[in-house]
Amino acid sequence: MKATRKSRLPQSQKPEFELSFEFFPPKSEKAEERFWHSLEKLIPLAPKFVSVTYGAGGSTRERTLKMVSRIGSETGIDAAAHLTCVGATKDEINEVIRGYYDAGVRRIVAIRGDPVAGIGEKFTPHPGGYASSVDLVAGIKNIADFDVSVAAYPEMHPESTSWDEEIDNLKRKEDAGASRALTQMFFDNNDYWIFLERVEKAGIKFPIVPGIQPIHNFERISSFANKCGAKVPNWLAQRFEGLENDQGTHALVAASVAAEQVTELMDGGVTRFHFFTMNHAAQVMALARVLGQAKE
Ligand code: FAD
Repeated sequence: MKATRKSRLPQSQKPEFELSFEFFPPKSEKAEERFWHSLEKLIPLAPKFVSVTYGAGGSTRERTLKMVSRIGSETGIDAAAHLTCVGATKDEINEVIRGYYDAGVRRIVAIRGDPVAGIGEKFTPHPGGYASSVDLVAGIKNIADFDVSVAAYPEMHPESTSWDEEIDNLKRKEDAGASRALTQMFFDNNDYWIFLERVEKAGIKFPIVPGIQPIHNFERISSFANKCGAKVPNWLAQRFEGLENDQGTHALVAASVAAEQVTELMDGGVTRFHFFTMNHAAQVMALARVLGQAKE
């Protein structure tokens, strides 16, 4: 039996056990089949909510709406729709928010979105649009009392120039009415623990839910991580070295890496987890078992 370490979670971060699952809106019929198949497998885990991402410039507007409405009406699970500020006026975004409300959606993951020119480029707000996620949270709350989640960055957002700026921005998101932050993927739990200390020191009270990225494809995930400012430690790269053409071993290594990560977080007192599923169920199912959350 594994010894339980003393909880490293500050008092303000002590929650009930909650899982949430992030999906992206499928593009084809075949992908949609996989979406529903994965979701059905995950439903018995009784997630707090299932979220569906939003293409930065509104490219998935209809598909996101369709998926969140169907999740709610067909599974009874709470669905959260992601929403970004990119490439639209406030009026246009408000219309999307009202569309979510009319479809019965009561949860939104409010994020700014990446610059149209790509991650790392300068972000220019759309003329007449919401300038940042803080503005967007306030705009959503103005329309209806949605449950709003926001993004947080244990390794700092690539555009932030200091930790003060980063944490101030997160505090503003809480003050604007967000209920929780979901973190960007991270692979070194120390980054999360140190981040929580900064959050605690700043008086931020809402939960900082770790975003867990199971590694379905190391090359793809590490390229995405690099783009969004999440580091891939050398030890992690070494574990996947030479496994490009060995799917079986790759999957086993990925499962053990993610199991180590969530076990350590749980041992440190974390009981809320947000999983980036990439529309696949198997790894998340296994991780839920590791967390003792498998349900009959
Ligand atoms: P913000 O909180 O607005 O901040 C971004 C940066 O701008 C920070 O460095 C902040 O300090 C700075 N900043 C904020 N306000 C100002 C200001 N007034 N002046 C100057 N600087 C300022 N992207 C998508 O396109 N679709 C999705 O569905 C999606 N889902 C996501 C889910 C999660 C859990 C996470 C972690 C990210 C997601 N993203 C998604 C990515 C997200 O859009 C990017 O990380 C984006 O670059 C930042 O979004 P944000 O909401 O954190 O931005």
